Amino acid sequence: MFATLSDRLADTFRNLRGKGRLSEADIDATAREIRIALLEADVALPVVKEFVAAVKERARGEEVSQALNPAQQIVKIVNEELVTILGGETRRLRYAKSGPTVILLAGLQGAGKTTLAAKLALWLKEQGKSPVLVACDLQRPNAVQQLQVNGERAGVPVFAPSPGNGTGDPVAVARESLEEAKRKLYDVVVVDTAGRLGVDAELMQQAADIRDAVQPDEVLFVVDAMIGQDAVNTAQAFLDGVGFDGVVLTKLDGDARGGAALSIASVTGRPVMFASNGEKLTDFDLFHPDRMASRILD
Ligand code: GDP
Repeated sequence: MFATLSDRLADTFRNLRGKGRLSEADIDATAREIRIALLEADVALPVVKEFVAAVKERARGEEVSQALNPAQQIVKIVNEELVTILGGETRRLRYAKSGPTVILLAGLQGAGKTTLAAKLALWLKEQGKSPVLVACDLQRPNAVQQLQVNGERAGVPVFAPSPGNGTGDPVAVARESLEEAKRKLYDVVVVDTAGRLGVDAELMQQAADIRDAVQPDEVLFVVDAMIGQDAVNTAQAFLDGVGFDGVVLTKLDGDARGGAALSIASVTGRPVMFASNGEKLTDFDLFHPDRMASRILD
């Protein structure tokens, strides 16, 4: 991810090398290049505008540092702005002070939610927690079974409605699972919800009802990094319909240009918290804005 953006910015900064001091024209030309690089990476236009304006303003106002040449100074500013947009400091999970921590996953179908649920559960186990997965995606045929298979691979139990005995009501499943987790002393409950191919009111309402029933400590919006220009509308719809505290980017191993990550974090003001980058359950980790920014500017 971000390969094109990274190459484009490298070219831009190369043009500044050897300059003693940045003129207004240099700053304008650089800003234009950064704008093109971001647009090519599929970053949403309003986000690009805001980003470029911030970089320009700082480039003009920045104290001339003795230690850095003009090119390095611009790189530093772009780096800091990228880190800010992606959420600043690495945002860690907030665990409940007492009782099980509840994490609700929301997102479109195909975003990688079910896979992510198992990855997150395995990661939590490695952090010394005793997680349980809850199958509340009763919409998609096989979603429950897929979660059960993944849960088994991760060595994490899955609470799911028993076949033939299920109420078909995901809110009831979520509520009962939380009670069961309390009884059995599991300390993190990861709830997988239904996704649709597009944003729809019924899906939002169902996720909101589950949220109200289990009062999650964290709601995570799971989104395919390849989503491109649809990113902003989709994220905004989930923010309005369900609300979320952080973003999980999936399929970072694909050839996504990375714009979605920047657009979503910027438009929603929610940090990217986790990154999922492959089909294996271990292809998953905390997202570090500073490391990602450095990678872009490497
Ligand atoms: P859901 O509909 O949101 O629950 O999505 P799934 O978890 O079923 O994932 C949809 C498809 O994307 C599956 O084929 C997954 O194997 C695949 N997938 C999920 N996460 C990743 C990832 O990080 N990288 C890649 N390459 N594929 C992924």
